Amino acid sequence: MNVPFVDLAAQTAEVRPEIDEALRAALDRSAFYGGPALTAFEDAFARYCGAAHAVAVASGTDALELALRAIGIGAGDVVVTVPHTFIATAEAVIQTGATPRFVDVERRTYNMDPAELARYLTESCERDTAGVVRERATGLRVAAVIPVHLYGLPCAMAEILAIAEAFGLEVVEDACQAHGAEYRLPDGRTAKAGTLGRAGCFSFYPAKNLGAIGEAGALVTNDAAVAERVRILRDHGQRERYIHVSPDGVNARMDAIQAAVLSIKLTRLPFWNERRRQAAAWYAEQLGDSGLQLPWEPNGASHVYHLYVVRVPERDRVRQELADAGVATGVHYPVPLHLQPAFAQLGFERGRYPVAERAAAEVVSLPMYPHITQEQVSYVAAQLRHAVAPLMAARR
Ligand SMILES: *Cc1c(COP(=O)(O)O)cnc(C)c1O
Repeated sequence: MNVPFVDLAAQTAEVRPEIDEALRAALDRSAFYGGPALTAFEDAFARYCGAAHAVAVASGTDALELALRAIGIGAGDVVVTVPHTFIATAEAVIQTGATPRFVDVERRTYNMDPAELARYLTESCERDTAGVVRERATGLRVAAVIPVHLYGLPCAMAEILAIAEAFGLEVVEDACQAHGAEYRLPDGRTAKAGTLGRAGCFSFYPAKNLGAIGEAGALVTNDAAVAERVRILRDHGQRERYIHVSPDGVNARMDAIQAAVLSIKLTRLPFWNERRRQAAAWYAEQLGDSGLQLPWEPNGASHVYHLYVVRVPERDRVRQELADAGVATGVHYPVPLHLQPAFAQLGFERGRYPVAERAAAEVVSLPMYPHITQEQVSYVAAQLRHAVAPLMAARR
């Protein structure tokens, strides 16, 4: 049996007639930018998330950068995030002129450890005479935190929001892997990932839970001023045609074809997320007694399994055995951000974020997509159990 890592063809096939129709309509009308397709998607996505506003942009990275800039983050600021994420999280910070700082993640969720965030703020920062929290070593203002809902699991947002509030930090959520994931707040209210901070950022890269047929992204916010500023920034700083009110605008527009396709796929997203959760339940059934660390869904959080990640010793050998058996796997991500060559100038040494470093060495992502079958999951699980059996026996 061959099990691919993702199966975009199956997803496309499910919506192909509607997509063909949307493409034909766009070509017939030469409707490639803006217009009703764009606003229809923005409205639908805002409604789906339960946010007041959605602003469509060209990528998840653009969403993060423009969200930060719209809330006033830039040179002289520190933005705190995690080292165990895709590089775009930190790239967006650097694009604004701000400096990224990292705090370690939790072992079981792979998400930001709120205790580590609090420790950084209390041990490495202090308030100046005006009450602004500054990093002691550099004097930089600590302005914002980016929790990343990695693999589709919401972070411990109640704790992170409370810490951010106490230290006067803005919260921008990186929800690029968590479309539709839910989080229950202490007051019992349930909110979708991306709607709890000042802004939540999404990627519609084709393989994400909601994927375009090219590049696209969006941010959601309940703050009308933030939405308005991002609308201006994404379109060359113009408020109306050829009246440019912002000198630092960019071209970060989403094209109308992506918007039309995303509107179609958005109607399937709840169903596709349910299918992912079903596949995760099958994996858990088959691997529950394997001795491997499986994904964990803390009480009150609803995981949407963008990725199904387990930890294995001797990862290279295990992945090779799986590949030989026709099972494709991935690694998200093999090198934590603080050890990336691109960030060597930030001066981080190995050992600084031990939980993230250990995760980077051990994680492996199993095949996961809405159209995976129970037979495929069983086959992957059986091959994985076979590959790790000698290791698990040695451990006992
Ligand atoms: C995909 C992703 C991004 C970036 O999104 P793009 O659309 O590729 O720019 C940012 N953060 C995380 C965690 C992602 O997975």
